[in-house]
Amino acid sequence: MRDQYGRDLTDLRISLTDRCNLRCVYCMPAEGIDFRPSEELLQDDELLLLVRVAAELGVRKVRLTGGEPTVRPGLVPLVREIHDTAGIEDIALTTNGLLLDRLAGPLAEAGLRRVNVSLDTLDAAKFAAITRGGRVEQVTAGIAAAEAAGLVPIKINAVIVRGFNDADVVPLAALTLTRPWEVRFIEMMPFSTVGDFAEAGVVKSEETMAKIESALGALTAVDLSGDDPARTYRLPRAAGSLGFISPVSNPFCAKCGRLRLTADGRLRLCLLRDDEVDLLTPLRAGASYDQVKEIFRAGAFRRPFGHALAEQMYPQARAMIQIGG
Ligand code: SAM
Ligand code: SF4
Repeated sequence: MRDQYGRDLTDLRISLTDRCNLRCVYCMPAEGIDFRPSEELLQDDELLLLVRVAAELGVRKVRLTGGEPTVRPGLVPLVREIHDTAGIEDIALTTNGLLLDRLAGPLAEAGLRRVNVSLDTLDAAKFAAITRGGRVEQVTAGIAAAEAAGLVPIKINAVIVRGFNDADVVPLAALTLTRPWEVRFIEMMPFSTVGDFAEAGVVKSEETMAKIESALGALTAVDLSGDDPARTYRLPRAAGSLGFISPVSNPFCAKCGRLRLTADGRLRLCLLRDDEVDLLTPLRAGASYDQVKEIFRAGAFRRPFGHALAEQMYPQARAMIQIGG
């Protein structure tokens, strides 16, 4: 399956829930959000039907996200069913890591391959501030459990926020000196009511790289192909690598082949635009399998190109927690 710009569509990100056990400042508005009642979210059978549709159209990799995907009831059997879907070759999970200490083993056994764990700082007080109450030790325990369960290579995602954790990029990068992880630094993106905050606090990758190089030594390029949104580098004699994801300063739209399914059953055509295709309503209105497949294919085909962050225009309809990053 390709879109109108010829981009191959082999990756599907599925948001399993709009709920979370943390409330990160750049993701969840301070005033909270109106969680959708669970009956308005994709049920397991609906979600699995859409995975089958996607796989028949050429999707090979599924990434589960949210909200916090590990708070969805029945996650382990759901992973097993996705794993058993013909055509799906790879399942990964993006998580805050809090529940991995008990879920990593069962998830690996069900067919999960890898995890990306979000960790913005190693400092307990700052972690509690950014996540509005989280405990960093729970995340580090979760990462250890994921490694023990073989969910490797571990990728760590850190969103950099000026005034919160911009000084913490050095200790985070230093983790790769001894651990075979990829620590990825993400430019903060603006969404809905956290948009002004995100625009004011964004730290561009160039600044983060300079800070790391001056403290830890020159970075050697590993992969700058653009096939992955992260441009990757290595510190001298490091066991792991560093990734820089720069949607604001260096958009990667030309190579973006990501399809996104929201927890309420919308195909989101671009992370940074409000344009969506409703799949849940036709599914519940009795559309046939082939009709749903055609709505999916036609929606995916019209994926747009480019966003307007540089012109200070950002999506209004949903915060990140309601989309799935
Ligand atoms: N709860 C899981 C987690 O935190 O990893 C999965 C969902 S979260 C929305 C997915 C990723 O999006 C996380 O790495 C998070 O840090 C990132 N994220 C959230 N809001 C963001 C923003 N405004 N700009 C850039 N990245 C953001
Ligand atoms: Fe929750 Fe992840 Fe958003 Fe933080 S980034 S509030 S952990 S969904």
